[in-house]
Amino acid sequence: MQGLVYKSTGSWYTVKTDDGNFHECRIKGKFRIKGIKSTNPIAVGDTVTFNLETIGDETVGIISGIEERKNYIIRKSVNLSKQVHIIAANIDQAFLLVTLNNPTTYTAFIDRFLVTSEAYEIPAILLFNKLDTYDPDEMVEVNFLMELYRNIGYQVIGLSAKKGDGVEKVKDLMESKISMFSGNSGVGKSTLVNALEPGLQLKTSEISEQHLQGQHTTTFAEMYDLSFGAKIIDTPGIRGFGIVDMEKDELGDYFPEFFELKSECKFNNCLHLDEPKCAVKQALEDGELAWSRYRSYVQMLEEDVAESYRTD
Ligand code: GDP
Ligand code: ZN
Repeated sequence: MQGLVYKSTGSWYTVKTDDGNFHECRIKGKFRIKGIKSTNPIAVGDTVTFNLETIGDETVGIISGIEERKNYIIRKSVNLSKQVHIIAANIDQAFLLVTLNNPTTYTAFIDRFLVTSEAYEIPAILLFNKLDTYDPDEMVEVNFLMELYRNIGYQVIGLSAKKGDGVEKVKDLMESKISMFSGNSGVGKSTLVNALEPGLQLKTSEISEQHLQGQHTTTFAEMYDLSFGAKIIDTPGIRGFGIVDMEKDELGDYFPEFFELKSECKFNNCLHLDEPKCAVKQALEDGELAWSRYRSYVQMLEEDVAESYRTD
């Protein structure tokens, strides 16, 4: 049988088959996936094959195989520093909720999220929420930011989760896909999810950040079916994405508008810092690229790139 992993506790996996039934499954013996050293071999979002076995008067599924993942998100394992924990796999799209104030979502945070989603190969969509609360000056700023990200090529939607404005657009995008929602505490994740599916509670918002510290190992993602044929992966306590290992000269590849210009830089390994004849710097001077994006880029370069993606 084949099914999709909806939940995992580390030793048990809840797998849903096409007929709509859930099966409690386990792994027997060693189960390794080549390429990744992870504390958990299977994660929410994985497609697995399993056989039903009866042990005593209980029937359990024994997982025998796993489909190749199209993507997966990880965080560092707390216990074994060299290993990672796979939070979730096969995510079709990641939404980031953004608010101008209450709370402020900084462009550095947005850009970090976008870079990480590029590196993970997960399409990212920006949702500018609480549009009903902004005065005209603030709306100018919001529209400027929405345009900035649209020009780079990202999908951007304006929302009022509370009033329900824009929620249909989000629903349309979510249909028959697996989605994730991220954003700082207070941006409106629970409000949006409730507008999408009344009654559904996300763990993302239940757990306070202090509470999470030191509890990383006990927080597992879970997938939910929504009534309009969409799936959500809920990842407790994760505001953005976890770590991605990358080299410094790779970072620019994850800023699509910089990457487009890279071939026009004099040096093919140009970091777009102080190199002569840098097409990115030129485009910035010419007002064709956003300085806020460049600031985020430099900031990320200056930090230990691999470490800087810890947002959970
Ligand atoms: P979360 O922490 O991301 O889950 O945020 P919540 O959904 O709990 O929202 C935080 C606060 O913002 C709550 O008081 C919501 O009622 C409010 N809120 C969320 N979305 C909107 C919106 O679109 N407009 C307004 N005015 N308030 C909103
Ligand atoms: Zn350059």
